Amino acid sequence: MLDLAAEHAALQPALDAAVREVLAEAAFIQGPAVGQFAAELGHHLGGAHVVPCANGTDALTLALLSLNLPAGAEVIVPAFTYVATLEAAALLGLRPVLADVRPDTFNLDPAAVAAALTPRTGAIIAVHLFGQCADLEVLGTLANAHGVDLVEDNAQALGATFQFASGKIAHAGAVGAVGTTSFFPSKNLGALGDGGALFTRDPARAALLQQLANHGQSQKYHHQRIGLNSRLDTLQAALLRVKLRQLPANTAARQAVAARYDGALGDVSGLQIPARDARSSHVFHQYTVQVEGPGRRDALREYLHQCGVPTAVYYPVPAHQQPAYAYLGYQAGQFPVAERLCETVLSLPMHPLLTAAQVAYVGEVMGFYLANN
Ligand SMILES: *Cc1c(COP(=O)(O)O)cnc(C)c1O
Repeated sequence: MLDLAAEHAALQPALDAAVREVLAEAAFIQGPAVGQFAAELGHHLGGAHVVPCANGTDALTLALLSLNLPAGAEVIVPAFTYVATLEAAALLGLRPVLADVRPDTFNLDPAAVAAALTPRTGAIIAVHLFGQCADLEVLGTLANAHGVDLVEDNAQALGATFQFASGKIAHAGAVGAVGTTSFFPSKNLGALGDGGALFTRDPARAALLQQLANHGQSQKYHHQRIGLNSRLDTLQAALLRVKLRQLPANTAARQAVAARYDGALGDVSGLQIPARDARSSHVFHQYTVQVEGPGRRDALREYLHQCGVPTAVYYPVPAHQQPAYAYLGYQAGQFPVAERLCETVLSLPMHPLLTAAQVAYVGEVMGFYLANN
């Protein structure tokens, strides 16, 4: 699916130097690299404030904490997402309210969000799934009209942009009240361990997030808020500074791989290649196809495995059918798009070093199987 060892081999001297510098300075928590990395990432995001933290799940928790929602407030989340999006809300005593997604882009369906809004809604979390922005235009308008905050879970679309009808082009994660991301090693910008960050254009919220991520303290041993111990290690920040320089080139390489997949798979019947929203760039955290027909996705997956092609299913179980979230009281059939996607989606190998020959091989194997089964 990805080849981190090969990606890191090319960066080895710079990564080694970064490690040596952190060891020499020995400021392992809140060392200078953390602020330097935050400033550099902010620059990539059009000048947004960046608050680093320990991981993408904590980033979601901190984002929601910063909104000061009353206990039990409802947080609208997609029915098709990674569990962390719901988990953060649930752990804070907020109520995740699911909304179905669009069958083409896999992202929140604004009509479903509109139907899920109630007087108790406190926030909407848009997830930019697989590398493409959710409908920030309509979701932003809905959130404004209802006086609720839009949070962007941008763990999968760092570097993507979205063009509004006004012509304004915005960076994914820097549109809503707060944006979050993850530097889990497999993400488009991956640390060599866990890491995460928050984005905001509001300096006061940035200061609040900084405080919340560090035990709610304004200065050492003076605590204004109940916060978290959620900091990005200096070592990870130093390594991320090296990897951040590669992000634009890596994104372009992922997009080139996706274009090759499109060429190889676009005409295969029974298979749907990823739909593009013309307003969003797509940074292809995943290249995810849909395979129609009962059991066909899993059979194709097994055949690809036998041919030496790794694949993954993101995600096999929708949020409302996870045992941990049974208490929300949803029934099977309530989110038909999410449920169907769990049966049909298949993510193909995707990383910046994937060669044209490798993509062509995957295309041939898939074309052959689907033509004959
Ligand atoms: C990876 C991911 C997260 C969680 O990030 P961690 O750093 O693993 O905690 C949250 N939301 C989405 C959509 C993700 O893909």
